[in-house]
Amino acid sequence: MRASPPITNIYCKHRLIHMSDTTEKIKELLPIEEVIGGYIKLQKAGGNFKGLCPFHNEKTPSLHISPDRGSYYCFGCGENGDIFSFVEQFEGVDFVGALKILADKAHVPIEWQEQGSGNKNDRLRKVMHDATRFYEKVLVKVPKALEYIEKRGIANDTVTSFRIGYAPNSWRMLFDWLTKNGYTKEEVEQAGLIKAGPSGFYDRLRGRVIFPIFDVSGRPIAFSGRILPEHEQVEKAPAKYINSPETDLYNKSEVLYGFDRAKQEMREKDQCIVVEGQMDLVMSHQAGFKNTVALSGTALTLGQLTRIQRLTNTIVLAFDADGAGLRAASRSAEIALGLDMEVKVVALPDGSDPADVIIESESKWKDMIESAENIVLFYLHKTYDVTGVREKLRYAQSNVLPFIARIGNKVEQEHFVQVTSDTLGSTPDAVREEVQKIQFKLASGNNSEQTPVKESTVTPVRSRITTLEEQIAGIILSRKDDVELRQKCESIVDKERLKNLLESPKTEKYVYEVEQLYSPEVIADEAKNLLHNLEQEYLRKELEHITRSLREAEGRGEQARVDQLLAEHKTISQKIQH
Ligand SMILES: [Zn+2]
Repeated sequence: MRASPPITNIYCKHRLIHMSDTTEKIKELLPIEEVIGGYIKLQKAGGNFKGLCPFHNEKTPSLHISPDRGSYYCFGCGENGDIFSFVEQFEGVDFVGALKILADKAHVPIEWQEQGSGNKNDRLRKVMHDATRFYEKVLVKVPKALEYIEKRGIANDTVTSFRIGYAPNSWRMLFDWLTKNGYTKEEVEQAGLIKAGPSGFYDRLRGRVIFPIFDVSGRPIAFSGRILPEHEQVEKAPAKYINSPETDLYNKSEVLYGFDRAKQEMREKDQCIVVEGQMDLVMSHQAGFKNTVALSGTALTLGQLTRIQRLTNTIVLAFDADGAGLRAASRSAEIALGLDMEVKVVALPDGSDPADVIIESESKWKDMIESAENIVLFYLHKTYDVTGVREKLRYAQSNVLPFIARIGNKVEQEHFVQVTSDTLGSTPDAVREEVQKIQFKLASGNNSEQTPVKESTVTPVRSRITTLEEQIAGIILSRKDDVELRQKCESIVDKERLKNLLESPKTEKYVYEVEQLYSPEVIADEAKNLLHNLEQEYLRKELEHITRSLREAEGRGEQARVDQLLAEHKTISQKIQH
């Protein structure tokens, strides 16, 4: 265990923060490989670490992390920085947000100075925090809500941990309580908690079990309310679930319910289970499947899938077997396959959802997750239930082939073409042709809205001289105390050029490249080789220049100039080794 750090107070005036001491302290306490390793899988590479870059789509690791320098660099997309910039980028927060997350991790307390009413989003977070506490407090006083929760199989620990609450069946109880506690009507409205009606504002959620929805850092940003069964039985039944509207804190297409607490296990189990409802999620976590997240909308979005893919490449869809559930599953799967993810499907019994299965038997849920099938096979096997050859083909055409068409990996795609033709009693050629037709349709822009951006393969071409110069700069930067080396480099590389390189914003990249190429033991020898090669390249360049001038002088008939250039040409040629 690390010794606990001294308490540091940060007084944040204006929005400009000078707290280099604190950031340095946090950096000391949190090794970069631990922070980044908390988000993505890392493997050792010499004295460094590497992993799949979360900031661009890739299959081979290009993100390099240096514990010595406390920095990272991606050779694929050029992202680089320290733990703060990594958390900012990964969690989608600003510097202050990243500071909060990392300070918390390092157990370095931060004390914020209240300035007026504070930042607007901070106020919204406070309202949401207090509203969550209000709902939690109400729950324990409402026996029928507690009874319902118990009947659904949710244990007390789970209620506490997920901060489940109850919204009283009254028009303005939350509103009155919040305004009494210092919030303005505007703030409560902006948090999405009240709604304007003909006779003034009223609480949006009433008579419902409340599931707070948390952001990636575990702070409540929205609510989902489940109606109690007794209110369901009325003449004009209200919606089963009502969710908060989108607010400055809550972006429905980005947030996944449960993601904040599923991150760790998604990475460890290398799998993400996706369910449809809050109840399903809470029960799945309770049953030990902490790698479960739930949708807030209808299907997974590209944004949500990209977040998941930073942690694992496999999703297991456990959606209701009704029409809406299957449509959401298909849509989600199409986008995921486009990202080269593996998609599996849990076969839920007709008319039941994960929560029903789990309350009946946790081990049944476990079996179902373990026997989840690849989505192509899942739908292909459904053709067994379809009678008639032509009907089977038609079914496969609309339910199986669209998935095969989206698989990025050609080998994998071909495998499924074979399996499909075998199952349907067709030929691989015929299946392949149908798949290509779908691909053609997709490519012609029918589906542009959700087609993920593929990894760019275009890298700018660097000249050999530039490459050598950059490597030499990298060596100088990684051996700052080696005066002799520096002088040697200065004697060969153009002074101005070298200065530009050493002050370039890309210095991180140069150092990482050198580390990739040369181990510390050989670096001094390598520097000699590189300088020699560079010298030769300079000479070749000069020779090219002389040759060009020579041709021009000959064309103009300037004999004296020709003679002079020929002499120069000879001297330089002799210096160049072949
Ligand atoms: Zn990258």
